[in-house]
Amino acid sequence: MITPVRSVTAACVLGATLVVLAACGARETTRAPLPAPSATSPVAEPPTLAPGPAGMTAVFEHGPRDAGRTVALTFDADMTADQGPRAAQGERFDNPGLIAALRELKVPATVFMTGRWAEEYPRQARSIGRDPLFEVASHSYSHYAFTDHCYGLPTIGEEGMRADVERAYAVFRKVGIRDAVPYFRFPGGCHDRRALEALTPVGVTAVQWDVVSGDAFATDAAAVSREVLNGVRPGSVVVLHCTRSAAPTTERVVRSVVPELRAKGFRLVKVSELIGASNGRR
Ligand SMILES: [Zn+2]
Repeated sequence: MITPVRSVTAACVLGATLVVLAACGARETTRAPLPAPSATSPVAEPPTLAPGPAGMTAVFEHGPRDAGRTVALTFDADMTADQGPRAAQGERFDNPGLIAALRELKVPATVFMTGRWAEEYPRQARSIGRDPLFEVASHSYSHYAFTDHCYGLPTIGEEGMRADVERAYAVFRKVGIRDAVPYFRFPGGCHDRRALEALTPVGVTAVQWDVVSGDAFATDAAAVSREVLNGVRPGSVVVLHCTRSAAPTTERVVRSVVPELRAKGFRLVKVSELIGASNGRR
């Protein structure tokens, strides 16, 4: 279940399409530098995977298959460089209805949040971050790719990788998220040895997935629900999105699959529980 280096084949359609959308007007906004993160951030309490060979950041894809029927729904809160202006014009990259549904259904979940999303929606970010039902992890600050050729996403240089991830945690603290977990999801899932080595000093565990919901730009909630239900096995990590404009069916998918998963005996958990269950089994 732990793969130090893995080429990504799972589709992260969202990343690719966002870049297509970004092509006409991508620009960096200028912001004042954020305070440097402290040496102790992110918090150390949640379980992490021990680094791989040569201290390289470990990669987690799913929990144990033989430790009960658990499944983690994860939600990526993407926000790329050009989307601030689009948000200002009314496009919604948040999904309050989805978060409300998770609360109503009492679904523990892990939200992989970009720093830009937290800056755009600080009140929602804080609300999610302070709700014990959820845990907030990093999906980078800028949603740039950490390898070349990653669904057309702009690429961040090796020298900027560590700072980008730490900047996301700095934003989380700034908006009032106290205990973001030290898990990092690469934009598009794209990573290689160089990226994993660059992030070693940050102390994060890289979190991938084993079930692609296909919710990005989907219009057929039933089809996405089927993908999830057909793909889930004990210990699975399901990737979904928390961005209404780019993943409009996700709330309906959650309302559909959660009761069905529970009827099949699955217990919904956060990624930290799956990582904790994996430790001691390696
Ligand atoms: Zn993403």
